[in-house]
Amino acid sequence: MSLPGDCLRCGVCCHSDSSEYVWVTGYDWTRLGGDATRLAHFIGSRAFMRMKNGHCAALEVRRPTVGPPVYFCTIYEQRPEICRVLARGSPECLSEFETKAVHVARAG
Ligand code: SF4
Ligand code: SF4
Repeated sequence: MSLPGDCLRCGVCCHSDSSEYVWVTGYDWTRLGGDATRLAHFIGSRAFMRMKNGHCAALEVRRPTVGPPVYFCTIYEQRPEICRVLARGSPECLSEFETKAVHVARAG
């Protein structure tokens, strides 16, 4: 599989089976504002985005009647720092894609 031309057609880095995947800092929590407790929670002394159906709870998966799913971050402007620094095409992005794309495609 090759990297899709658009993150909206990928969404791989928003998926994980781990409940401690998307780290939320104190600053991130403040930036989430009224959405913080709905979308993030504490596990022990650290906060993470909640996970749902194998992906971040803030990810909306739109499934058109024709064509592949579209992966949409519903809090793009408020997303945590860890999501901001993962640049498309970076080694981290490519590593995420290589290790999880098949799994995400199967789920889609
Ligand atoms: S940053 Fe990379 S892994 Fe994440 S959605 Fe975009 S192309 Fe996919
Ligand atoms: S906050 Fe947005 S970009 Fe970050 S993992 Fe969740 S859905 Fe993906």
